Order: sequence, then structure tokens, then C-alpha cells
Amino acid sequence: MRVVGIDLGSVAAKGVLLDGRRIYTALRPTGWSPREAGEEILAVLLQQAGLHASQVDKTVATGYGRVTYNGADRTITEISCHARGVFHLYPQARTIIDIGGQDSKVISINHEGKVADFAMNDRCAAGTGRFLQVMANALGLEVSQLGEKEKPGEQVTVSSMCTVFAESEVIGLLAAGTSIGGIIAGVHQAVGKRVAAMAKKLGLVEKIIFTGGVAMNKGVHRALCEELGYPVLAAQECQFTGALGAALLAL
Ligand code: ADP
Repeated sequence: MRVVGIDLGSVAAKGVLLDGRRIYTALRPTGWSPREAGEEILAVLLQQAGLHASQVDKTVATGYGRVTYNGADRTITEISCHARGVFHLYPQARTIIDIGGQDSKVISINHEGKVADFAMNDRCAAGTGRFLQVMANALGLEVSQLGEKEKPGEQVTVSSMCTVFAESEVIGLLAAGTSIGGIIAGVHQAVGKRVAAMAKKLGLVEKIIFTGGVAMNKGVHRALCEELGYPVLAAQECQFTGALGAALLAL
């Protein structure tokens, strides 16, 4: 059986093709058209695997752009797909924290990997990848550089809860000569604090797995562990867990 999972996120489109024991992955920016991004992801996966579209048995699409993509047999929510993908990689997972480009989610799963409960923030950019992208821009950095450049020992507090005010706060701190590494640590702490508050409300059960593109940021990972008071494991291939889950559900 050959299956494809496509996760059309707000920032990045991700795909996973499972062909027996072989696994192929593809990623590209979603851009303005999630539908086109999905089509391109499928084409890249098929090319890598040396397959024709007719040789794929089932395709499942997930992510916010899933409704615009008509190449899938089924669409399934990101909550179910992340849960499936993370549980496959980490059967000991009971709490999943997913921070993506424009939302953050906390998902509780049981010992069978079934979703027991979840909480989601998709109303406010604070506590999402968007917040980090705005701050990286204000600091003249790429979002991928933030984790390496933070200096937790010099951390300052970024107190504004709103992305727009926090951006102007960061610009003010820069103008006052505050260490960039200290500002970045403060930005990470603000994200960690916000997501941890949502996770604590839902209730924390170990093991806690951190996934989504933001899990690549070591600074947010550090801040999340501190704010939760629990060890958190950053998932391997964290940006692909939703697409992997979609492929496994297709299977
Ligand atoms: P979505 O599914 O909403 O498109 P993703 O789970 O793909 O979101 O995560 C996108 C976010 O991941 C970006 O907003 C950015 O903050 C973060 N990100 C992407 N690449 C990196 C990287 N190399 N290092 C750190 N963070 C990253």
C-alpha cells in the first residue's frame, strides 16, 4: 500500500509518502495558494519515489489549507493527524504541544494514542511562530537564527501580550542598547509562558512532546521546559508530524 499525507499549514506545506518501508518527505512555503502548494508537494514526493499519481492508494490532507486542496481522498483535522504522527514516533507521549506558524495547540492523548482533549489558540499571534517571525524581523534576523542567538543569562522581560505592542517594545529595547541575546531570550520566554498557561489549564501528563516548526527553536524549547516545570522532548522531524499522521491515517 502506498499512501500520502499532506499538511497544508499557514506557513509551510509538508508532505510524507509511505511506500512499504520507505518514507519520502517534501516541504515548501505555502505561499498564497495552499492548493498549488499541495499539488507541488505531491509532485515532488512522486518524483522522489519514482511513482505516478495513479500508483498512490490513498491521500489524506490536513492543515488549515486542507479544504482548498482537492487531490485528497479525505481531509482530517490537524489535531487527529498530529496525535497520530507523534504517537507513532513516541508511544509514551501523553501531552503534545504543537506550535506552528499561526496557531498553538495542546493535545492530550491516551495510552492508545486517541485524542482525549485539546486546547487551541488561533485567535492571537502571540504564542505562535508568527510572533517569532515578527520579532526576528524587528531584530534583523532570520527566525531560524533565534535559537542560537539567545542569551538566557542576559534575559530581559518582554511584557506586552500583544504582538504589535511587543514588536515596538523590542524596538525600544534595541534602541536603549539592550543585548540582542537578552531580548531574544525574553521573546522566547514570552512564547513559553503563553503556551505553558494553555497547557497547564488542559492538565499536564508526561511524556510531553513538543512539535510543529517552532520546536526547531532551542530557545522556545528551553523556555517551555522552564515555564511548565516539566521536561519536554522536542520531536524529531517536528515539522512533519502532522503530514506523517495524515499518511498513517490514510494507511
Ligand atoms: P504551519 O503548519 O502553520 O505552516 P509549521 O509547523 O510548519 O507551521 O511551523 C512554522 C513555524 O516554524 C514558522 O513560523 C517559524 O517560526 C518556525 N520555523 C520554521 N523553520 C524554522 C527553523 N529552521 N528554526 C526555527 N524555527 C523555525
